[in-house]
Amino acid sequence: MFRPIRGMKDLYGTEINKYNFIIDKARHIGEKYGYSIISTPMVEYTDVFQRSIGDETDVVSKEMYTFLDKGGESITLRPEGTAGVMRAIVTESMTQNFPIKFMYYGEMFRYDRPQKGRYRQFHQLGFEHVGEKSPYTDALLISMASEILNAIGIFDFKIDLNTLGDDKTREGYTRGLVKYLSRHEENLSEDSKRRLQKNPLRILDSKDEEDRKICSMAPIITDYLSKESGQYFEKLCDLLSSYGINYEINSFLVRGLDYYSETAFEFKPTGEGYRDSVGGGGRYDKLLKIFGGPDASGIGFAFGIERLMLLLDDAKFSRCIKKIAVVPVSENENDSAFDLIRTLHNCDIAAEFIQHGNLSKKMKTADRKNCEIALIIGEEEYQNGTLTVKFMNLTNESRKTKVVNRNDIVNFLKYSLE
Ligand code: AMP
Repeated sequence: MFRPIRGMKDLYGTEINKYNFIIDKARHIGEKYGYSIISTPMVEYTDVFQRSIGDETDVVSKEMYTFLDKGGESITLRPEGTAGVMRAIVTESMTQNFPIKFMYYGEMFRYDRPQKGRYRQFHQLGFEHVGEKSPYTDALLISMASEILNAIGIFDFKIDLNTLGDDKTREGYTRGLVKYLSRHEENLSEDSKRRLQKNPLRILDSKDEEDRKICSMAPIITDYLSKESGQYFEKLCDLLSSYGINYEINSFLVRGLDYYSETAFEFKPTGEGYRDSVGGGGRYDKLLKIFGGPDASGIGFAFGIERLMLLLDDAKFSRCIKKIAVVPVSENENDSAFDLIRTLHNCDIAAEFIQHGNLSKKMKTADRKNCEIALIIGEEEYQNGTLTVKFMNLTNESRKTKVVNRNDIVNFLKYSLE
């Protein structure tokens, strides 16, 4: 038997209904905020990710699906969406038109240990606002993200907010952090010992128990903020409060990728069930330059679509559109049923032609296909120009069936399906 690759899932039925629902809502809200869709390739030259995300991050050092193509080029399945969008902005010469706002969604790949909410192929829904730097921009983006969560029915979440400051801030902070962490060096994990020299900020992101204990007492970045970064962050906090957006400052939030500066944030569910971050993002100042573009700042975030799906109620998504079953009683009525299906489809009504088996089997099939209403055509209906309408979910026998004139059926259905 063939199996899907570990950590990769087939999405269909309830799952794909949830997926489409999330994308529809997000696209609508994204358009309102001025974002248009971009679709970049799922594979890029490895450098695109390595140079932007950073060698010392878990994503680059452990999780990338990297291989040589037949031409001997090192290529990588995208582990996130921002790098590809930045590469596209530069290679498609869009940098004359700042600010640019793009949204994207699609498959991402990370070779991580699969578990609930963590897959090797998953989907992200992301937004990038490039070429504009102000606390207003950041506040609008965060408020849009909250609006998307609300629109898909997620209200129990908190926003962890932090600032990673500007270069000056991070230089001072890194010195302070290294000084502190060096005192605990022997107890740090091997990864963190190496990162102490190469990229100490990454240690704050470590999942190792002992590292986390040590980090919980580490100096915090807010004590090192430059005047400009301090004012920027303060203004952002004020704006979010005035929008009524609840956030909590989490001084240890550094996010898993190297490219962030200033604003960083993460969305965490607070209700029953799944509790890991469903999305996050932040500001980046150097990404475009890495790809040969101008010195321009951007901000973005991505939701993990599967993680959002975990928070949606299965029952609400098991059936999405209201469907009609067209059921001929015998083969003699097949042509007439076919005709009816065509009329319904022309009127934008979702309908299935149930062709096989006897009447009782056909009704079972209609039920299995989640049809709300069956339109039955037998000899009598055919002769009289009528249809027997059966409401599949009603239990009250007297209201369960109705005979309707075939010429009136479209209006009848439109009314019944509302
Ligand atoms: P990141 O790009 O790491 O900031 O991730 C952004 C969001 O993508 C996270 O908050 C998760 O919701 C989602 N995500 C990241 N990695 C995975 C994964 N392996 N499986 C499922 N979702 C993921």
